[in-house]
Amino acid sequence: MVDNTLSPHGGKLTERVTPLQADDQRVRELKTIPVRSQIASECVGISYGFFSPLEGFMLKADVDAVVEDMRLASGYVWSIPIVFDLSLEEITRLSLREGDTLLLTHQDQPLATLDVEEIYAYDKEHLARQVYGTGDENHPGVRRTYTYKDRFLGGKVTLINPPHVNPPYEKFWYTPRELRERLAERGWTKVVAFQTRNVPHAGHEWLMKGAWFAANADAILVNAVIGEKRTGDYIDEAIILAQDMLRAAGYFKENVYMASILQWDMRYAGPREAVFHAIVRKNLGCTHHMFGRDHAGVGSYYDPYAAHRIFDELPDIGIKPVVTLEWWYCPACEGIAYEGLCGHADRKQELSGTFMRRTLEIGVRPPPLTFRPEVFDLVKECADKYGFGSPFVTESYLKNRNPVMTVPPLGPAG
Ligand SMILES: [Zn+2]
Repeated sequence: MVDNTLSPHGGKLTERVTPLQADDQRVRELKTIPVRSQIASECVGISYGFFSPLEGFMLKADVDAVVEDMRLASGYVWSIPIVFDLSLEEITRLSLREGDTLLLTHQDQPLATLDVEEIYAYDKEHLARQVYGTGDENHPGVRRTYTYKDRFLGGKVTLINPPHVNPPYEKFWYTPRELRERLAERGWTKVVAFQTRNVPHAGHEWLMKGAWFAANADAILVNAVIGEKRTGDYIDEAIILAQDMLRAAGYFKENVYMASILQWDMRYAGPREAVFHAIVRKNLGCTHHMFGRDHAGVGSYYDPYAAHRIFDELPDIGIKPVVTLEWWYCPACEGIAYEGLCGHADRKQELSGTFMRRTLEIGVRPPPLTFRPEVFDLVKECADKYGFGSPFVTESYLKNRNPVMTVPPLGPAG
């Protein structure tokens, strides 16, 4: 039933992009709020339909339904509140009222408008406990929730000044409409999505291969989450270029593999984030989504397989989860082996991200069976080219990195 269904979530792709003319005076008279990068990238996500069927930031009825029942008020599955927060001071300063249209700026340029339908207060601790399963501030998603300002603004968003996506990301950035067109051109009707925020080692490579077999898919769509970073993460440039190297170096044939990016600040909401990832990839045109161990988890807040079980409660989500155990190196099998098949668990050597990172730090290539030499060399290059000497996020990367997107100047007023 789900196979071959490329219908977006909610049945229709949201498209709310109306580029502004440089001589348009109307927008210059609007009340204006500069927005941080999280909100800017969510405006882009909403307007191009990555978050279909959302058309804007959520009204209270939607947040309530998401928080309590993992549904929108309309009944469609949804797991993470997408909200616009603003302080009471700013609301007072702007004399902002329901019915107003706000101009949202980013990088000192107009970006989008927000039709303010509702201004409401929300119990942030309750939201955090329901969405993240904890009220612990050490959880990065909970901490983010607690920093939201006093009021949420709900209403439709229209992108009026589409940002440019900068190199090296631009080759991997597609709107849902564009991506669906690419999939159709290639004749891919069964596509399995692979979520990542890592440079791939053999464990990741085999997760993708296993999911391709399990789904009997035409192709794998790697969709790398590009967004807010924490020190020690891989730098975004290395992640997307390394994923693409698996194709360029032939570990995946040209006609079965495609790398792409999603601008999104990870919430680390474990099972609920798995559901969110599934919905976004459904909107991109994928029919299947791979979920491995501890998907979108952090620390030990979630059972490693909670993200597998949550889909049992959501038979109507419209994308098929492909759940998988781990791949490891097995000296008895003499190769990369699957947890579900290999009978030598006592001799397994885990393909740990920590080990791969260590090899990059000391600069010694690990065995090609565990980490592809082309990927290794590319990541070293990225360290010099983009990472100020490191493939991992450092304070200087956070401060000086090239932005993923640039909001272009609108030009002088007419
Ligand atoms: Zn074995």
